[in-house]
Amino acid sequence: SVQRPAGDHLPRYVRVNTLKTTVEDAVDYLKRDGFSYQGQASRLDDLTLKGKEFVRDLHLPELLVFSPKTDFHDHFLYKAGHIILQDKASCLPAYFLNPPPGSRVIDACAAPGNKTSHLAALMKNKGKLFAFDLDAKRLTTMSTLLLRAGVTCQQLANQDFLKVDPDSAQYRDVEYILLDPSCSGSGMVCLRDDTSADQEKDRARLASLASFQLKCLNHGLRFPSLKRLVYSTCSIHSQENEEVVTACLQQNPGFRLVPLLAQWPERGLEPLTQCLRASTAKTRTHGFFVALLEKHSEAGSTKQ
Ligand code: SAM
Repeated sequence: SVQRPAGDHLPRYVRVNTLKTTVEDAVDYLKRDGFSYQGQASRLDDLTLKGKEFVRDLHLPELLVFSPKTDFHDHFLYKAGHIILQDKASCLPAYFLNPPPGSRVIDACAAPGNKTSHLAALMKNKGKLFAFDLDAKRLTTMSTLLLRAGVTCQQLANQDFLKVDPDSAQYRDVEYILLDPSCSGSGMVCLRDDTSADQEKDRARLASLASFQLKCLNHGLRFPSLKRLVYSTCSIHSQENEEVVTACLQQNPGFRLVPLLAQWPERGLEPLTQCLRASTAKTRTHGFFVALLEKHSEAGSTKQ
């Protein structure tokens, strides 16, 4: 039987790829192409759009928002890599990591690479962006995506991030890490009906994912020059989100959480309110979780 994805009613989010164009030029092009620009959104309700209306997002500067189901797959701007079709929540990790041009960055679990291309745009293609993934097929898709997006500062490797040596000459200067590891995907609205009848099996799967996620997080914090690491999942389960981050902070007292975007409407579960959550109801996105960890500048206190 064909399952209708519940995500059909979410706005269509479009990230402007600043490696190829500017937001202003993309907006002008779209206006000439028959879309109706409504200006900058100032509240969540402004993201409820009809027909060919579109707005600039209220939180993310390079994001345009269209009515649900607007299809860009055959559009010139998409084919030319000027726009990236990416859910708003999944634009948060690179936006918060914000690596400056010239920096050394790792995207630990990178394929198919939408966040990698976002990182490259923030870096203005300057510096080095190491991107790892275990899955060779997903990496092939990623190469095509990065080529279309005009990304040139990347070095892709079909490699297990857990086996990357933090102290090797190549990686010991890495200052920024984006970690978006495999997760249950329970935040993807189209997958929500996918709960199996076997609760025991579900619990075991979550425990195994959480243990993998914590290993990746602990490994990321071992890079000696690391300044900031963003951890994200498209899961709504606290086992994969707040619980992983809490365990990691207990094991790594030299790191703390950075409070994220005060005006964002949904926070991490208490007491991790520095982190963000996202959901259909509160942010008009897929379900998502983001945490930003930063190395303490001074030794001593481990509490916020
Ligand atoms: N960040 C990607 C993006 O925005 O397009 C999505 C990443 S997806 C949630 C998780 C990825 O982690 C998968 O492509 C999977 O193959 C990869 N992965 C799983 N275990 C890994 C490991 N040990 N090392 C590197 N990549 C891994």
